[in-house]
Amino acid sequence: MPVPPAYDDVRSAAERLRGHAHRTPVLTSRRVDAELGATVFFKAENFQRVGAFKFRGAYNALSRFTSEQARAGVVAYSSGNHAQAVALAARLLGIPATIVMPLDAPASKVEATKGYGARVVAYDRYTQDREEIGRSLAAEHGLTLVPPYDHPDVIAGQGTAAMELIEEVGALDALVVPLGGGGLLAGSALAARALAPGCRVYGVEPEAGNDGQRSLRSGEIVHIATPRTIADGAQTTHLGELTFAIIRREVTDVLTATDAELVAAMRTFAATMKVVVEPTGALGLAGLRTLAHQLQGRRVGVVVTGGNIDVDRYAALLGTPATGTPATR
Ligand SMILES: *Cc1c(COP(=O)(O)O)cnc(C)c1O
Repeated sequence: MPVPPAYDDVRSAAERLRGHAHRTPVLTSRRVDAELGATVFFKAENFQRVGAFKFRGAYNALSRFTSEQARAGVVAYSSGNHAQAVALAARLLGIPATIVMPLDAPASKVEATKGYGARVVAYDRYTQDREEIGRSLAAEHGLTLVPPYDHPDVIAGQGTAAMELIEEVGALDALVVPLGGGGLLAGSALAARALAPGCRVYGVEPEAGNDGQRSLRSGEIVHIATPRTIADGAQTTHLGELTFAIIRREVTDVLTATDAELVAAMRTFAATMKVVVEPTGALGLAGLRTLAHQLQGRRVGVVVTGGNIDVDRYAALLGTPATGTPATR
């Protein structure tokens, strides 16, 4: 296992990202603060390039390629935001990119990835193993594989969002971030530990896929089947070795949110802050709602991770009346 990154690596990533990643806004809502009894700062990574924080990790990783690696190219596998992040970062850095995507990936995502100039290799997600395809493409053509979360430069890049947030608003009592494979949570925890030592750090994952929670509580990486949830950015089946090494050391707890709670949170973002947030991006607020009783009067940061969702899908999800979920007011 490579050496897990440290806060210094997050700082170096921030230097590399300067002028290339957006410094995203911090949103607040008096209605949300009143509902939760806390002061909440939302780091709006839905406004990041490609519409999600993943650009940070991808650009940081690709900008560290040697000239030989850059000439040969990068390969990544993803159906979602990591694909677009690697494709755009590669284009900006002049690196040829190959992205392995499922045959049934949304056409809009395939088009976006191709639009950034990447070559897309399709695979059948029910009969083929994308990691194997990625590895064999890497071996055959001398490409460098950049995985979506378990990579030191990816983790360090993702940590820059929390670093910017704390630099901007000051120390926090708690930081709540969505959790898939843990790149964002691990990087955020490194930043929080260094910049706000008393800050409690929480991950939030879909209730249907609580492998991260079980891993943290048992002390071992738990593997599960692909969970059924609307949070497609967090349909991971296990944490990474590097991300888990950091998470088990730095993270206070992992919470879960149901799909109904995610829709309620998406609705709150639309109603109060006027922003479109994808289901995975709403995990932080949904998790915070279950934790609020512990955070009365506290200063809390939430990373809103992305806004990539087809408009029709968004309308359909929000068009479903919210029953038994927190009021959006
Ligand atoms: C990838 C992703 C996540 C999860 O990030 P990890 O680093 O895999 O934990 C959360 N939200 C969105 C929008 C994502 O694209």
